[in-house]
Amino acid sequence: MRAAIAAAETSRLATIAVLSKVQVMRSHSVSAEGGTAAVLFREEGDNEESHIYDTVKGSDFLADQDVAERLVKMMPLEIYQLDHWGMPWSRRSDGRIDQRKFGGYSFPRATYAQDKVGFYEMQTLYDTSLKYENIEFYNEWFCTSILHNSNRFAGVTAIEMKSGQFVIFKAPSGIICTGGAGRIYSFSTYAYSSTPDGLDMAYRAGLGIKDMEFVQFHPTGILPSGILITEGARGEGGYLINKSGERFMKKYAPEKLELAPRDVVSRSMIREIQEGRGMKHETGADCLALDLTHLGEEAIKERLAGIREIGIKFSGVDIIRESIQIRPVCHYMMGGIHTNIDGSTEMSGLWAAGEASCNSTHGSNRLGANSTSECLVWGRITGELAARHAANKERPSIIGEQVSQEEKRIYDGIFRGSGEVNPYDIRKTLTDTMDDKAYVFRDEAGLSEGLKRLKNLKGMAWKHVDDQAKEYNTNFCNVMEIDSMLRIAEIVLTGALNRRESRGAHARTDYPGRDDVNFLKHSLAYYSDSEPCMKWHPVTFTRYAPVERKY
Ligand SMILES: Cc1cc2nc3c(=O)[nH]c(=O)nc-3n(C[C@H](O)[C@H](O)[C@H](O)COP(=O)(O)OP(=O)(O)OC[C@H]3O[C@@H](n4cnc5c(N)ncnc54)[C@H](O)[C@@H]3O)c2cc1C
Repeated sequence: MRAAIAAAETSRLATIAVLSKVQVMRSHSVSAEGGTAAVLFREEGDNEESHIYDTVKGSDFLADQDVAERLVKMMPLEIYQLDHWGMPWSRRSDGRIDQRKFGGYSFPRATYAQDKVGFYEMQTLYDTSLKYENIEFYNEWFCTSILHNSNRFAGVTAIEMKSGQFVIFKAPSGIICTGGAGRIYSFSTYAYSSTPDGLDMAYRAGLGIKDMEFVQFHPTGILPSGILITEGARGEGGYLINKSGERFMKKYAPEKLELAPRDVVSRSMIREIQEGRGMKHETGADCLALDLTHLGEEAIKERLAGIREIGIKFSGVDIIRESIQIRPVCHYMMGGIHTNIDGSTEMSGLWAAGEASCNSTHGSNRLGANSTSECLVWGRITGELAARHAANKERPSIIGEQVSQEEKRIYDGIFRGSGEVNPYDIRKTLTDTMDDKAYVFRDEAGLSEGLKRLKNLKGMAWKHVDDQAKEYNTNFCNVMEIDSMLRIAEIVLTGALNRRESRGAHARTDYPGRDDVNFLKHSLAYYSDSEPCMKWHPVTFTRYAPVERKY
């Protein structure tokens, strides 16, 4: 939506279609809780240099440093822009926008609106986008493929879910903003719609998918659902405790404690559990606990009301009175569609922004609150560039052969497919395998076993749809999603297997050290019929040489 607004402001003549497989206000972004990072309080000592360095250090030096710099420099304006559009940022008593502490930052830098920042941001953007007559929403349209001609973007194919109609959108430029792919794991904070369809469309169109082995596990997912308790809870002063009530983070990150970056905290938690100091949830799962009781009723009700409600409804725990059991949970994909600093993909006329993209801001580990920031900054950048491109360039014609091949793929290959195996069983086995083999710690044996299981699933006769209705056929959409999940999960596992080092969120027990000699580079996956074809891509350094990360 930020991209659509930027495009509409750049060109009043462009017609902008916002396609979403859900009503846009049900996109996963509305569940962002904790904050959006930006440097606001220079007069109190914060500065851009520090935000850039925190981001680069947080990334374990795999971030492209020019990209991190662009993020930091453009962000303050985005905060004020949202403010002017009506965003109800939480404020200090003097009326200035407030910021809270977040993991891995040297300064309180997470701009917030209670603990519902994504909901308010999305509402603000949605309201604003309604002011532009040239933005049209196509809610509940399921995109299936990218159309292109001589490596120039030409449009997309999509199904209108309401009618079941298969439609071609012709367009001189496009932006993929299909979000993260975290539903390839079972224990996940993501919305059920967060499947890798957009990544897979790009992959099938021959574009590179970058750094997918880096999956972020957030320390505080509640049991058994995996719903998130925001890092803002620790930003507000919450403690992580083991079974003896000890704040164990003092052993692993003596300075930052609970506010070390997520990769560090999640690894510390698993070590704590492995060494016998964890707890058991009533479901039998290993866990630890988050204690907020010392913050007091008033602060919790004012600043953490949303997670209190989540605790009561989904864990039966009121965080005002008791600690809540939690465990590291799949939360963010650092990887995505390979783009340059402007969000341009390898196809002319096509950009990618937000979590679906990988412009390498976050390297191998994203800092909390930097993702909604990335969505805003690259929403704006790509929206402007795409609108200018649309105004200047002729439209590449659609190649009929591509459209008929896509119809064949989804209607003959999936909708009219046959097979004994239930696609939902395939999905469950896949996501359980990812939980089991590509979690916080990984090793060669586990990843190889994971890949073996995945290839086995791919080979089974499962691609079919039981519901043959035309209208709102969610069964059909789900099976298309599962098809893309298998291909993208394969990239995650293959990338993880190839990266024989530990960096950021990718921790290999068989290669525990970071290896800058051999692996200070991005991974790229390209489509081939059998398995992903893997390549490497250089990291951009401007100012900071890699050093050991300590917190
Ligand atoms: C629970 C939770 C809390 C978070 N909290 C924070 C936070 O406090 N701060 C922060 O910075 N980050 C946070 N994050 C991360 C951040 O919210 C996301 O990275 C970001 O919002 C993703 O936005 P997006 O626009 O890229 O994708 P999304 O908001 O996921 O939107 C993707 C859109 O693409 C559409 N789409 C997908 N596939 C198709 C298809 N095949 N056809 C048509 N449409 C399709 C979807 O319908 C949707 O509209 C959080 C994430 C989660 C899961």
